[in-house]
Amino acid sequence: MNTHSSFSVSTIATVATPFKQKFAIPRQPNLAKAQGIVTFEDGFNEKTMLKGIENYSHLWLLFIFHQNIDRGWKNTVKAPRLGGNATMGVLASRSTHRPNGIGMSVVENKGLIHTEGATQLVVEGVDLVDGTPIVDIKPYISYADSVPNAFDKLDEINPIPNRDVLFSSNLELALREIEAKHNGFSSLVTSVLAQDPRPAYKQHLDNDEKTYRVTLYDIDVGFVIKNAAVWVTELVQLG
Ligand code: SAM
Repeated sequence: MNTHSSFSVSTIATVATPFKQKFAIPRQPNLAKAQGIVTFEDGFNEKTMLKGIENYSHLWLLFIFHQNIDRGWKNTVKAPRLGGNATMGVLASRSTHRPNGIGMSVVENKGLIHTEGATQLVVEGVDLVDGTPIVDIKPYISYADSVPNAFDKLDEINPIPNRDVLFSSNLELALREIEAKHNGFSSLVTSVLAQDPRPAYKQHLDNDEKTYRVTLYDIDVGFVIKNAAVWVTELVQLG
C-alpha cells in the first residue's frame, strides 16, 4: 500500500535572470551579483501579498528545479565538491536531482517595481536559470536562519575556486557597449567565471585551451584557462 501523501503546489511567479543555461550558474546564491526579476502569475499578482516585505533585507526563494524534474532522482548524487565522482546521499546534498525537485536560495531584497496592473520583485544574488518557477517566498530571519557555529566540512576540504578573470584587450570596446546596456556586466562575468565553471574533473587544470561558452543575458561569452587565470576571449551579441 502506498502510504505517501501527495500535495499539489502552484507556480506563484517566475524569475527572469541573466543565466540562459545551467552551465556556469554559481552553485549557491550570493556568489555573484546576478539580478532576478520576479513576475507573479495571475491569481498571485496581488500587491497585498507583499505588504511589509520592505522590512527584510533578504528573502528565501523556494522554487522548482524545472529543467531537471523530468530526469527523476536517485538516492545518491555525485558531489562536485568531492571532485565529481564520489557520491553523497541526496538529502545530504544541495543537488538539483531531488525527490520533489524543490530548491531554496537566500537572495537580497532590492525592492518592488509597480507597473500598470503588475508588481514585480527585484532580487540580487540568484543562482537560478532564467524562467525558474517560484513556489513560495519568505523573509530571511537572521536570528533563526543564521547559525554562527555551523560547519560545512566539504567547503573546508574543497572551497569554491577563485581564479583571476582577465578580458582580452581587443574586447575593451565591446565591453563598454555591453556595460551601457547591462550595467555591472563585467563584474557579473568576473564573479561567475572566477568560480571556474568547468566540470569538476577539469578544475585542477591551470591551462585548458578549449574555449568554453556561456550566455549571460543576450551575450555569448567565450573563455579559456591560461596560466591559472580565466581569459575572456570573445563577447558576441546574440540575435
Ligand atoms: N540554492 C539552491 C539550493 O540549494 O536548493 C540551488 C543550489 S543548486 C546546486 C544550483 C544549481 O542549480 C545552479 O548552479 C544551476 O546549475 C542549477 N539550476 C538553477 N536553476 C535551475 C532550474 N530551474 N532547473 C534545474 N537546475 C537549475
